[in-house]
Amino acid sequence: MLRGHVAPGARVWVEGAAVKVAPDGGFLIGFSRTAPPRVTIEMAAPGTLQDAPRVTHTLDVGQRDYEIQRIDGLPDAQVSPGPAALDRIARDSAAIKTARLRASDTPLFTGGFHWPLTGTMTGIYGSQRILNGAPRSPHLGVDIAAPQGTPLLAPADGVVALVHDDMFFTGKTLILDHGHGLTSVYAHMSHIRVEEGESVTAGQVIATVGQSGRATGPHLHWGVHLGGVGLDPALLAGTMPP
Ligand SMILES: [Zn+2]
Repeated sequence: MLRGHVAPGARVWVEGAAVKVAPDGGFLIGFSRTAPPRVTIEMAAPGTLQDAPRVTHTLDVGQRDYEIQRIDGLPDAQVSPGPAALDRIARDSAAIKTARLRASDTPLFTGGFHWPLTGTMTGIYGSQRILNGAPRSPHLGVDIAAPQGTPLLAPADGVVALVHDDMFFTGKTLILDHGHGLTSVYAHMSHIRVEEGESVTAGQVIATVGQSGRATGPHLHWGVHLGGVGLDPALLAGTMPP
C-alpha cells in the first residue's frame, strides 16, 4: 500500500482508473497479488480541464511467487457446495462487498498497523488451491493460530463496518473501516465484542479467537482490502513480535 498526497481538488488515476482523493488531498494506492510489473499514475491539478495534460509517474512493482497447491480426486460434495450453501455464500459476499465500499473520508490508518494477534502463522497471503482441476479464490489474508478465546486487538483506529454472527465460510465475521477505502476483515471468531457503527482505537479488544465457519482449528483469518483489492496484511504490520 502507498500513501499519496496532492493539492485538495486534484485528481488521480492509477492505470487509467480514477482514485478516491479525500477532501484534504490524501489518497491510497494498493497493489494486489496480480499487480503488473509497471504501473502508471496520472495526476491533474485542481480546476484543470478534462483533456488537460496530466503529470505522469511510473512505478516498478516487485513481483512475488505464490504457493499453488493442486489436490485431485476429491469427492464432488467436498468441492462444490449445494444450492442452499451457494445461496448463503452469495448473501455473505454481498454483505462483505457493501462493507468494503464504505470508503469514509476520515483517514484513521495514519498511525500504521499492528498485528491484531500474535501466534503461529498457518496461512500466508496469495496461496491458492486447485481442487479437482478448478482454481479456488486465492487466499487474500493471513491465518494466525492461537488458543480459543485469545483476545484480538484492533490493529489501527477504525469504525466497525460489519458484524455478522454466522457466515458460511468465515463464521463470526467483523470488518473495520479505516477510511479512504481501506478495510480489514477478521474471521472465525468465538465472540465479537463491538457493534456496527462503533469507533475503535488501535489496541482495543474487538473479539476473541475461535473456529466458527469453515475452520479446522481455532485461528484468526485477517485480511486487508483497499476497495476491492486484497492487500497482504503482513506487509502493513511488518515483522510479527515474538
Ligand atoms: Zn485464511
